[in-house]
Amino acid sequence: MRRIDYDVAIVGAGMVGAALAQLLARADFKVAVLERDGLIEQRDPAVHDARVSAINPGSERILAAAGAWDTIAGYRISPYVRMFVWDANSSGSIEFDSAELGVTHLGTIVENNLVAYALHQELLHTANVRVLAGVEVAAFDSVGDRVTLKLSDGAIIRAGVLVGADGAGSWVRKTLDIEIESRDFGQLGIVSTVATELGHRQTAWQRFLSTGPLAFLPLADGHCSIVWSCEQNTAAELMSRNDERFASELARAFEFKLGGVVEVGPRKTFSLRSSHARQYVGKRTALVGDAAHVVHPLAGQGVNLGFQDAAALAEVMIEARALNKDIGGELTLRRYERWRKGENLLMYHAMNGIEKLFGTDHEFVSEVRGLGLRLTNAIGPLKSVFAHRAMGLSGDLSKFAG
Ligand SMILES: Cc1cc2nc3c(=O)[nH]c(=O)nc-3n(C[C@H](O)[C@H](O)[C@H](O)COP(=O)(O)OP(=O)(O)OC[C@H]3O[C@@H](n4cnc5c(N)ncnc54)[C@H](O)[C@@H]3O)c2cc1C
Repeated sequence: MRRIDYDVAIVGAGMVGAALAQLLARADFKVAVLERDGLIEQRDPAVHDARVSAINPGSERILAAAGAWDTIAGYRISPYVRMFVWDANSSGSIEFDSAELGVTHLGTIVENNLVAYALHQELLHTANVRVLAGVEVAAFDSVGDRVTLKLSDGAIIRAGVLVGADGAGSWVRKTLDIEIESRDFGQLGIVSTVATELGHRQTAWQRFLSTGPLAFLPLADGHCSIVWSCEQNTAAELMSRNDERFASELARAFEFKLGGVVEVGPRKTFSLRSSHARQYVGKRTALVGDAAHVVHPLAGQGVNLGFQDAAALAEVMIEARALNKDIGGELTLRRYERWRKGENLLMYHAMNGIEKLFGTDHEFVSEVRGLGLRLTNAIGPLKSVFAHRAMGLSGDLSKFAG
């Protein structure tokens, strides 16, 4: 039976786990990455993925520090310079413009598979990373300064720290018995790629309907990626429509901002929930990304928060090692938890609050909401504070994002 020792073992090679692995490996940590589903390095990155993320400039910096950004940008990315958000039940709207905010772009729309592909390429070519794909951890135990992991294929490995980057249903979190606070929005997000009559003008669009937000995100080839969040029954009806009928209802729900919808790609749904772990760390263990927190996709913040977790955890471990301290000791891991929990909790409550605020067509609430949007739009400094936070350029940032 092989027994191998690592500094850090990461369960889950999604976008967040893979980014953390690279940040640590580039700082000479010996890293094991365990991924249940195998890596996607053999998939053809030329094939488009319908699932995209709005990656903010802070995350771009983190992905550059992880060595993946140039590969991603070498395929296809779609930077957007404007964001327009409006309310279906009031005259309120808000617009963000990169030139006004003094930045080159507000964010970049990237396919999830492309981000994972670029990170996985790096992982496979980094000497001090060992990727164990197609395996799961059967059990783990922390004794002294090591965590011992028993794998599904019978192998045993040891590490100074075990990180759960295994997504919203995190097995690591459940095994640690960490409770979550959660909310089911009772909504499904319909995701598809569509072609519109008018060009997207490098703008991310979002209309708040009382049934849920509808986003059109600009893609590099002129198409848009849509996320249409709506109540489950409405979503089921929309999914049952043929493409032509779906396209016409979609264009109407979007107030024909880009004219008609002339083509619709395959549609997929995702159930929408939010959750937040009561603790991010345990004995020699830590959670990052969706394993620790899930937010409503209405502001495109989920994976961006996860990248900030990865950067913060890498930074505290790098600093601990430089000071000859224990990288998996309670002081080190608690520092990570204190750093990230407040920031993520703020975003978790903000997204839940926005979803609730816009999820009603009550006349008085709609008027107050519209006024709030108009005022924020008119007050430049306030708007700039919100925008910089959403771009991942303000707050308590890691050196990888700053
Ligand atoms: C409709 C929709 C739109 C979104 N849009 C945006 C957006 O625009 N911007 C944004 O920032 N975020 C967005 N998000 C959120 C974003 O997709 C997630 O936050 C992100 O994918 C989480 O990444 P992760 O690496 O933490 O987890 P995951 O992507 O879930 O990865 C977890 C990995 O762990 C592996 N795994 C799981 N269990 C085990 C196990 N037991 N052993 C080994 N491996 C395991 C899985 O196979 C997977 O590879 C959106 C979400 C939805 C639903």
